[in-house]
Amino acid sequence: MDKLNLESLLRKNIQKLKPYQAKEIPCKIKLDANESPFPVKLSDFISEINIHLNRYPDPEAILLRKALARKVKLSHENIMPGNGSDELIYYLILTFGGPVLYPAPTFAMYGIIAQSVGVETVECSLDNNFDINDEEFLKLIKLKKPRLIFLSSPNNPTGNTFSTDKILKIIEFAQKNSSIVVIDEAYQPFSSKKGFLPFLKDYDNLLILRTLSKIGFAGLRLGYLIGEKNFFYEINKVRLPYNVDSITQYVATEALNRFYPQIKKFICQIIKERQRLYRELLRIQKIKVYPSEANFILLQIENSKSIYRKLIKAGILVRDLSSVINNALRITIGTSEENEEFLKTIKKILGET
Ligand code: PMP
Repeated sequence: MDKLNLESLLRKNIQKLKPYQAKEIPCKIKLDANESPFPVKLSDFISEINIHLNRYPDPEAILLRKALARKVKLSHENIMPGNGSDELIYYLILTFGGPVLYPAPTFAMYGIIAQSVGVETVECSLDNNFDINDEEFLKLIKLKKPRLIFLSSPNNPTGNTFSTDKILKIIEFAQKNSSIVVIDEAYQPFSSKKGFLPFLKDYDNLLILRTLSKIGFAGLRLGYLIGEKNFFYEINKVRLPYNVDSITQYVATEALNRFYPQIKKFICQIIKERQRLYRELLRIQKIKVYPSEANFILLQIENSKSIYRKLIKAGILVRDLSSVINNALRITIGTSEENEEFLKTIKKILGET
């Protein structure tokens, strides 16, 4: 019998794609995925999970949306939860199509999802300070008429927030050109700058995307879109029924209602550790370190690939970004012990002890 040639059956745009994360490298210290380093157990805030698994989840996720809405001082009608913010990016692109415009480098999934559904992508390179090149960006809006614009601020993987004035200029210009702007605030909890929630009432083309993944609940898979409910009426047309399962709905609601002070404490600890790690990295001559408003730090270092491999050998996994930014590594902020171990190891590798 002939062997099935799967590749020949792929849709054209899938043939060119690579899976987002092909493998997981086991390491003692995991500083690669921008997770929180602080273990959270269900028993920290739940004594009993009181749900019936024989029933489908609440398709409207009302209690969860109310709990999320309270945190952002809006109505639950302004909230759409998803199976991670990735799923919501997917729904946005499925609903509105392209072109999809975003700065480069940025979070890879905007491009991957757009390509996987066969939608045109347009990239606009960041300037030398990793801020938006606003003139170029506005030109592309005018020329390409994107349906969707994604701005991750703080940006992954560069760690900086984009200038508020530039973002506002883009939102206003996009509004005139009928483009939707999604500000991805996955890392906003770690930022000293104000986010864009206060501007939601001013612009009908603005949406904000957030997630619980970076603040202690990556394993839950819960992201949420914030915006006017007319968006959600349309996005609901492509949303899979019951996309947020009962356990996630229940646990996330309890976490938001009962565990929030602890979540905030963890966030403060991560910010303090980021500041300390940044200061320490500045002192290492062979490293160029970039300031960060997120829970990770970007650095450049000669022969970054070889250093990445040496770190793995020493049991420390970071993110190799050399294919995106020359000689770049991205280090997620760990516990103080993990950061100490990382510093000690990288100094040893560089001969700067
Ligand atoms: N947006 C940005 C900017 C991210 O960096 C990430 C995760 N790396 C996500 C969204 C996806 O987060 P989630 O776990 O909620 O799917």
